[in-house]
Amino acid sequence: MSRKKLIVGNWKMNGLLAQVAEVGAIDKVAAAHPGVETGLCLPATLIHPARVSARSIFIGAQDCHMADSGAHTGCLSAAMLKEAGADSCIVGHSERRTDQHESDDDVAAKALAARRNDLNIILCVGESEAQRDAGHAEAVVSDQLLASLPDGAAAQWLSVAYEPIWAIGTGRTPTMEEVTRMHRSLRDALRSRIGDEADAMRILYGGSMNGANAADLLAIADVDGGLVGGASLTAEKFAPIIQAAAASG
Ligand code: PEP
Repeated sequence: MSRKKLIVGNWKMNGLLAQVAEVGAIDKVAAAHPGVETGLCLPATLIHPARVSARSIFIGAQDCHMADSGAHTGCLSAAMLKEAGADSCIVGHSERRTDQHESDDDVAAKALAARRNDLNIILCVGESEAQRDAGHAEAVVSDQLLASLPDGAAAQWLSVAYEPIWAIGTGRTPTMEEVTRMHRSLRDALRSRIGDEADAMRILYGGSMNGANAADLLAIADVDGGLVGGASLTAEKFAPIIQAAAASG
């Protein structure tokens, strides 16, 4: 089954209003590659200005609360992010699973909140280095995926991002064989839960993807795109990844 490649930048806690010009530059690159779906998950403060300036990319948030409103000081609901102009939301990023102690149940509840509020979802999973060294990577990540996946998950509104924790922001990546095995095993895990819908669901790779390694990673059969941190912060660094996705069909 052919799945349109999806390239998503995650700006994390980077970017002030001055960087909205960079969003515009990335938007132009995306406009030149309509065969690739491109988006940027931005700090909440940039969602509205980016939405106003962007034409060809979707705008995402990086997290949402599982409740639609309430006494949760400092948190943002999916409804608020939608109203600000977000189309999508990352849930379960390893930095939140670690720093904010988010459990698989929390991640599934956040995904349901995003869905209730008409946001598409990028659901992140990934193993620690110790889990990989112990030979448990595929089992751990498949279990994490099935425990975090919201009920009724469908390819039209949910994509999975496999992000080995030890590869995020480190310049290290798994071997092509390791990525191939992991994505195949995640596809099998999805099939066990959602049947044939698994063939349409995009599984992104994330973790130190850059202009030099994107073509090789995106050529792997079950790699349907990338979730990109550091290399998404400028059009200069992000463009080669979007171009590699376009070339990989
Ligand atoms: C990420 O945080 O989602 C990520 C993949 O970061 P980086 O590309 O910088 O490793």
